[in-house]
Amino acid sequence: MKLSTQLFVTLKEEPADAEVRSHALMARAGFLYKLAAGQYIYGPLLLRVLRKIENIVREEHNRAGCQELLMPALQPKELWEASGRWDRYVADGILFHFQDRKGSEVCLGPTHEEVITTYAKRFVKSYKQLPVILYQIQTKFRDEIRPRFGLMRGREFIMKDAYSFDSTAEAMKESYLRMREVYFRIFQRTGLRFTPVEADSGAIGGTGSEEFMVDADTGEDAIAVCHATGYAANCEKAVSRISAPPAAAQNVPMHKEPTPGAKTCDALIEMFPGLPIERLLKTILYEANTQQGTQVVAVMARGDREINEVKLLNHLDALDLALATPETVKRVTGAEVGYAGPIGLADDVRLLADKSVEGVQGFLCGGNETDTHYLDVWFGRDLEQPETLDLGLVQAGDFVLEGEGTIEITRGIEVGHIFQLGRKYSEAMDAKFAPEQGKAEAFWMGCYGIGISRIAASAIEQNHDDKGMIWPIPIAPYSVLIVQMRAGDEAQDALALEVHDRLEAAGIDVLWDERQKISPGAKFKDADLIGVPLRIVVGRDAAERKVEWNDRREEGNEVMDVDDAIGRAQSTIAEALAL
Ligand code: ATP
Ligand code: MG
Repeated sequence: MKLSTQLFVTLKEEPADAEVRSHALMARAGFLYKLAAGQYIYGPLLLRVLRKIENIVREEHNRAGCQELLMPALQPKELWEASGRWDRYVADGILFHFQDRKGSEVCLGPTHEEVITTYAKRFVKSYKQLPVILYQIQTKFRDEIRPRFGLMRGREFIMKDAYSFDSTAEAMKESYLRMREVYFRIFQRTGLRFTPVEADSGAIGGTGSEEFMVDADTGEDAIAVCHATGYAANCEKAVSRISAPPAAAQNVPMHKEPTPGAKTCDALIEMFPGLPIERLLKTILYEANTQQGTQVVAVMARGDREINEVKLLNHLDALDLALATPETVKRVTGAEVGYAGPIGLADDVRLLADKSVEGVQGFLCGGNETDTHYLDVWFGRDLEQPETLDLGLVQAGDFVLEGEGTIEITRGIEVGHIFQLGRKYSEAMDAKFAPEQGKAEAFWMGCYGIGISRIAASAIEQNHDDKGMIWPIPIAPYSVLIVQMRAGDEAQDALALEVHDRLEAAGIDVLWDERQKISPGAKFKDADLIGVPLRIVVGRDAAERKVEWNDRREEGNEVMDVDDAIGRAQSTIAEALAL
C-alpha cells in the first residue's frame, strides 16, 4: 500500500486529556479520534489492528466448534426484568436506557446473557443439540463512571461475547475448559504477555470465573501472584493468610482515652507509640443499597489491613455500596467521622468484622464519641466478637492459603473474562430443554468475553518507547514498512517497488512510505510513532541493491542485500504467526 494514497495525518501534540501512553500515542498517530467522552472514531490504521485481533478471535472460536451470530444492541427492558438484573444495572448507572416512541423502555446492551438465553430457549429444544456455544463480535454500551484511558474504558467499545449451553453441571465445566483453551491460544497468538487469574464474578453472577490480564504496570487491576505456587488472582477476589497478631496485652480493664483530632490509624499510632498497629481495630461505616432497602453496615478490621469492598458487596448481596456520609456517621455513632467503634453503635447498624480481628485482644477502637477511643478492649469480656468473615484485601507479603509461598502484587489490564454461570439466567428466564429422560430442565450456561478494542490499547501499554508504539507482529496494522528516502530517485523507485511487490506476493501486508517532499527525518519520526514492527529503508545504496533493515523492537539498523532483507522479513513474520 502506498502511503501517499492514504489519509495519513500525524500530530505533534498529544491530547491534553490523554492519561495513558496508548491513548496519547494512538491519538498522535491518527489511529483514533475522540468524539465525546468514552467514544472514539477508529481510524483506518486502528481498524486494521482491530480486524487482525478479530480474525484471531474468530479463527480460534471456529476451530473449537463455536458458531458466530449477531444480536441486536438494542434490548427490551422486559428481558432484563425477567433475569432480575434491570434494577442493579440501573442503580449502578452503567446502563444506557431510554424510551422508544411508544413509551417502551429499552437499553443499549452492555452484555447479552438475556438476549442469547431468549434465543436458546426458542431454538435449543433437546439434549441432543447440546452442547452449543454461540458468539458474536459487536459494539457494547456502558455508561462508565469514569470513561478514560482511551480505548481501555470506553462507553462504546467492541467486545466478543460467547455463551455456552449444556445439559449438566459437568458438561458446563467441560465447555468452560474448552473456552479456557481457546483463550490461551488467542492471547498467545496476539503476541502479548498475559496472566490468567481467578476473578470475582461481579454483577454477571455464577460460580467460577477467571480473567485474562495483559501484564502492564499501568493496568487498572491489581493482581496477587505467588511465584512459588503459581497462585494468581485479581485482588478483588484474592485470599491469603496473614501474619498472626502480637500477643494480647496485659488484662487491664477497658477505659476511655481522649484522642483529640486523631481520626486515622497513623494519628493514633503517633499518639500511642507503644501500641502495635495490629492492636488497633478500625471500624469503617458503609451504606449498602440492597433489594430490601438501605442499610448501614460497620466493618471492623485490623489497623494494618484494608477492607475489600467487592467481597463486602458480594456478602451483603448489595446493589451498590458507599462509605457512609458524615451525617449518617453522626447519626449512628453520635460522633464526627473518625471515631466509630463497635461499642454503642445505633441498633440499626449491622456489625461485621474481617477475619484479621480474630485473636486480637486488648485493642484500641473508636469510642463513638468525638475525640475519644477505647483502649484495652477484649472480645468476650467487653463485647461479643462480631461475625467474622474474609472481607480483607490481600497485601504484598501475605502467605498463600495453599502451599508455601508469599504474595506479590502486580498490575494488569483485563482483556478477557470467562464465567461458569450455572442456571441463573436459564431458570430466571425459563429456558429449558428436554433431557434424555424426565421433565424439561434449565440449561447450564457459561459466558466468555474479550475486549477487542481494549486489547489494542493494552498492546501499546505493554509495548512502546519514547518514540512511539511498537506493535506485536500478529496484530500490527502492517507487518512491514518500506521507507523510501527520496521519492522520484530512479534506483530507489525501482527497488522500493520491487520490495513492495515481492512482499505483497508473499502475502505480507506492507506499507510503503513514498511520500514526496517529506524529509527522511520526518518519515523516520512517523515510522517510529506508528510502530510498524519491521522496517526496510530504501536509500542511497539502492543502485547496489542494498537496503537497511530495522526491527522496531531493537536498537540500530543493519545494511544488507535486498534479497536477505526480504527473506528476513518473511522468516520473522512466519515465526511470529507460527502458533
Ligand atoms: P472492568 O472490570 O474493566 O470494568 P468488566 O469486568 O465489567 O470490566 P466484562 O463484563 O467482563 O467487563 O466484559 C468483558 C470484557 O470486555 C472485559 O474483560 C474487557 O476486556 C472488556 N471491557 C469491559 N468494559 C470495557 C470498557 N468500558 N471499554 C473497553 N473494554 C471493556
Ligand atoms: Mg470482567
